Parts: sequence; structure tokens; C-alpha cells
Amino acid sequence: MRLTDISTVKNIMSENGLSFKKSLGQNFLINEAVPCKTAETGAGEYVLEIGPGIGTLTRELAKRAKKVVAVEIDSDLIPVLEQTLSDFDNVTVINADIMKTDLVSLVKENFNGKKVCVCANLPYYITTPILMKIFESGIPLERVTVMVQKEVADRICAEAGSADYGSISAAIAYYGKAHRAFKVSAGLFMPAPKVDSAVVRIDVYENCPYQVKSKENFFRIIKAAFGMRRKTLVNTLSGEFSLSKQQMCEIITDCGFPADVRGEKLSAADFALVENKISKIK
Ligand code: SAM
Repeated sequence: MRLTDISTVKNIMSENGLSFKKSLGQNFLINEAVPCKTAETGAGEYVLEIGPGIGTLTRELAKRAKKVVAVEIDSDLIPVLEQTLSDFDNVTVINADIMKTDLVSLVKENFNGKKVCVCANLPYYITTPILMKIFESGIPLERVTVMVQKEVADRICAEAGSADYGSISAAIAYYGKAHRAFKVSAGLFMPAPKVDSAVVRIDVYENCPYQVKSKENFFRIIKAAFGMRRKTLVNTLSGEFSLSKQQMCEIITDCGFPADVRGEKLSAADFALVENKISKIK
């Protein structure tokens, strides 16, 4: 079964009376190499896929994994997936919204609590919330490999101080090391989106290298720092944590940064330094 064939995709859709749902970010892959390369990059023994669509990437993951659980929100696609994945006995499809799914229970029930590789061609309307949900859920993660808009991939992988660096770069850097794997042109999807995509691989840290006193404060600092990019960190964080500008200035300079530094210059490790000092007094 070649699910990347344009005529196959069209037939599956028309035979099942389906149309592509833009509101669910339904752009299906129609290139044979991309799902293989994505699965090669992202599969492990236990795989959680988000948004299997008609099962194109799922099949490639199933060939490489011990077990795949695929969570698809669109109930119209479930009968299609039953057909397209019928030759695999290591795939479980769950009809649910990933944002409303209890991931801890899912991993316990399906993978016996083992480490999971998340691999997905993500729906673009909800990329960041899905990524943050995966990382914040506390499930045991080995790797997260996702296809996202190229611009989002650039932001996820950006280094502190670069033009693309933002809150998502610093937030994801807390959990793992992100690498841009490869670019995927818009024309390799049906229907073709307006923008190109890229696959990002995030190797999740076994032990977080940043010693933070309060994870909540760490993420509060990042959110505040990038919420008001033009302001200096002293101005932003003194307001955020109800500290005087002088107190905040001491914290920032004690960490070794200039008093007028902005958040965009600080790496996750730098934010952890600032957090340690703020959490000591707050
Ligand atoms: N994996 C397929 C592929 O690569 O061709 C389809 C990827 S398509 C970009 C995104 C898929 O995510 C769609 O099948 C869509 O229905 C599904 N989806 C959208 N929002 C979702 C959500 N909140 N939870 C689970 N699946 C979702």
C-alpha cells in the first residue's frame, strides 16, 4: 500500500466521503522518502504519534518500533486507519484530542511506563501547545521528533542572541538538545500548505543540566523576558517578581550580565542562574 501516492490519497478521501479539514491542520504527506526519513530519525522501541491522518507516517513507525500508539482527533479518519494499518499488530489508534489526553496514564497503560519516542507531523495550528504539553506532562521521554513549520523549527533550534531566538527556544532547551534534521517543501503535502516545513529532533536530557530551585519561576522568567522583548530584564523582572529595580539590578549583575541586558541574550543556563537568585529571596 503506497499511501503517499496522490491518487491513493484522493481515492481514500473520496471513498470515505472525506475532505481535508483545514481547521485540524490536515496536510498529508505525498512523498515516499519523507515519512521514511522522519521515522528513521524519530522511531524508538515505544512510539507515540500525534495525528496519524491516514496512517502514512504511522506505517513507517510501525515497521521500526515494538509498539506505536497513535492519537487522532478526527473520528472520520478512524475507519480509514483501521484499513491502512490492518497489516500491523503493533499499532493502537486512539480517537482523542491530544490536548485532552492524560499522557501519564496512556504511557503507563500502553508502554508499561517505559521511555517513549514522540514522533509526529504536527498540526500547525497547535504546534507549541502540543510540544509544551508533551514536555510538561512528565512522561518518560527519550526523543521528540516533530515536523513543524520551517520558521518554528528555526526558532526551536535557535541559539541565544540570534534573530530566531525566543521563548520556545529557551523553554525547549530546558528539556533537551534540539537539532534541525531536514527541510520538507510545501509541495510534498496534500493540500500544499503556504509554508515549508522542517523536521526537528529533540534529544531529551536524562538528567536536566540546569539546577533550578523553582521550575515555575524559571518558566515565569522566560515568559516575562520574551513577553516584553524591548525592555531590559531588570525592568521586566522587577515588575514580574515585585522587587525593586536596584535589587533586580544586583541579581542580574551578580550573575555576570550587564545591567541593561535583554532576555534574548540569555541561554537556558543563564536563565537558570537568574532564577536561582530570584527564588532564593522570593
Ligand atoms: N501524519 C499524517 C501525515 O504525515 O500525513 C497527518 C499529519 S496532519 C499535518 C495532522 C494530523 O493531526 C491530522 O490528521 C489531524 O486530524 C490531526 N490532529 C489535529 N489536531 C489534533 C489534536 N488536537 N489531537 C490529535 N490529533 C490532531
